[in-house]
Amino acid sequence: DQAQPKKPEWIRVRAPNSQGYEDTRAIIRENRLVTVCQEAGCPNVGECWSQGHATMMIMGEVCTRGCSFCNVATGRPDALDVFEPGRVAHAVEKLGLKHVVITSVDRDDLADGGAEHFAQTIRAIRHRAPQATIEVLTPDFLKCGPEALETVVAARPDVFNHNLETVPGLYPEVRPGARYFHSLRLLQRVKELDPGIFTKSGIMVGLGEAHVQVRQVMDDMRAADVDFLTIAQYLQPTPKHHRVDRFVTPDEFKDYERAAYGKGFLMVSATPLTRSSYHAGDDFARLRAA
Ligand code: SF4
Ligand code: SF4
Repeated sequence: DQAQPKKPEWIRVRAPNSQGYEDTRAIIRENRLVTVCQEAGCPNVGECWSQGHATMMIMGEVCTRGCSFCNVATGRPDALDVFEPGRVAHAVEKLGLKHVVITSVDRDDLADGGAEHFAQTIRAIRHRAPQATIEVLTPDFLKCGPEALETVVAARPDVFNHNLETVPGLYPEVRPGARYFHSLRLLQRVKELDPGIFTKSGIMVGLGEAHVQVRQVMDDMRAADVDFLTIAQYLQPTPKHHRVDRFVTPDEFKDYERAAYGKGFLMVSATPLTRSSYHAGDDFARLRAA
């Protein structure tokens, strides 16, 4: 194995230690929920949780896929928990979230990929916590018919997020089991089904991609009418995961941000520690107020 590049000083993670963080943790634990913030070892957890932002992962902690950047266990998932949508809604209400991100592992074992469970979760949150805007960050529903996506869209999340994760040339090594153009088409289809839903996607950089490839992905997303874009530094969760090719500099992130706004994205978050759900609520509130 080649040596990893050394972490630069702009990749600094603050230890979580506020009361808001502890309160959020207690409510999450009480409701037996799983957060990406913890599972993915997200570098923003201290900041997000102290502000009452969290990303909940539904449908279990075991994924049917094995992406080389991801720290979620691969295997055979458990059966769906029919009470989970209610518990998520209860936690969103108790946490008083203004914006909640709901995501999941891939469930290639289910005929609908978990689409109905997503839809039930959206409806339960609408019912219990009507003040919250809802963002879903979904799997690609690659093995399902078109009704899977239609089911999620019909539940009317405010934001539909599906990450392309990387440039198409790196899919075989980074996102095996997924198809770049399928994911792109999924995003485009959401807009066709319901133009009132904002669409969002993101990629990680530092995996070995070239600048020109990143700009091509931006063009592809805009051609599919994607509204919001996130670009973040890839960080290796454990030494077994895909290696970090390099650390992209803050200036390069600024260049990406400028280029993306130039291409017509409504909202762009491109920084080393951006995560798909980072400050999602603030951004959305700003856009709604605009
Ligand atoms: Fe959680 Fe997203 Fe914030 Fe990370 S960026 S701590 S995953 S809400
Ligand atoms: Fe991780 Fe999602 Fe890939 Fe599953 S599909 S391994 S949860 S990134």
